[in-house]
Amino acid sequence: MNEAGLWAPAEPRVKVRAPGKINAFFQVGPLREDGYHAVASTYLAVSLYEEVAATARADTLPTDITVSIHPDSSLSPEQLAGIPLDGKNLVVKAARLVADIAENPSGVHLEITKHVPIAGGMGGGSADAAATLVACDALWHTGLSREELAQLGSELGADVPFALMGGAAVGLGIGDELTAALAPTPLHWVLVPADFGLSTPVVYGTLDTLRAAGSIAAPVPGQVEAGVLTALRAGDAKALAPWLHNDLQAAAEYLAPSLTEVLAAGKSLGALAGLVSGSGPTLAFLAADAHHAQLLASALAELGHPGLPVEGPVHGAQIIL
Ligand code: ATP
Repeated sequence: MNEAGLWAPAEPRVKVRAPGKINAFFQVGPLREDGYHAVASTYLAVSLYEEVAATARADTLPTDITVSIHPDSSLSPEQLAGIPLDGKNLVVKAARLVADIAENPSGVHLEITKHVPIAGGMGGGSADAAATLVACDALWHTGLSREELAQLGSELGADVPFALMGGAAVGLGIGDELTAALAPTPLHWVLVPADFGLSTPVVYGTLDTLRAAGSIAAPVPGQVEAGVLTALRAGDAKALAPWLHNDLQAAAEYLAPSLTEVLAAGKSLGALAGLVSGSGPTLAFLAADAHHAQLLASALAELGHPGLPVEGPVHGAQIIL
């Protein structure tokens, strides 16, 4: 009990929620000498969230960082088994970056509640990293600005700054040079996760190979199509539908041909459009409104493709406890 007679946990604890993302537009340039690809992306944060609870471990060193997965996680045991619980986990790397700056950091336990498919092209690990940066900043009173946290996040992955920022954004460079896009009205989507993952580097490599084999010149990404931004600004799902595009889709479908069939099913059931999210294999179908998204999700489930109605854009990483 604290002075006010309320129960207070023994150790300071901060819980943060961060969204997964889809890419409404994704153009990928040629392989660069540094191993990266230039992209022009339109990110949308969607209402499928990760949570990270950071609990200080008094009398331990800042290097004592432990990780666990909360039983409320909605992913299958097989998926959850693929998550590293050691220094390879992005949350550990994120906590270390904040500890290096904090004046008096303690050890910390990080408990992740996973809802975003793993290796699903929705930036789930990046959302965990973003949530951890915000949680550890609060826990250790580092007082970092959003920009400083984003700078740290970009050391961990191109999608981390966007998970901090949320909303809608144009991502240039390798996806980490972000400019907020106006999207005042959330749109409705149905996400269809796969029961397998796709490795992001393998999908990019396959795109390079397919382009080389077909003598297809890679575009030089400069800007996203204006039609995407105009439709987002208007909150107009029908106007957005023809602009949804992902250069990685051909590679994802090549590696996982079952995606082609599910995409066709979604469209035949009335989705305004459908595409592979990021490097896949999660599929995102655009619906006209919330009711349409519910109907579409039920119809897809009847065909054996359970989907999740979500909306986006939503906010970025936020403290919830
Ligand atoms: P992106 O869209 O950013 O490429 P993704 O959603 O396709 O990411 P993630 O789920 O973020 O993929 O993770 C891919 C791999 O990263 C996993 O297979 C796992 O080995 C490793 N990983 C490290 N930290 C995490 C984490 N916190 N959650 C999930 N996977 C993690």
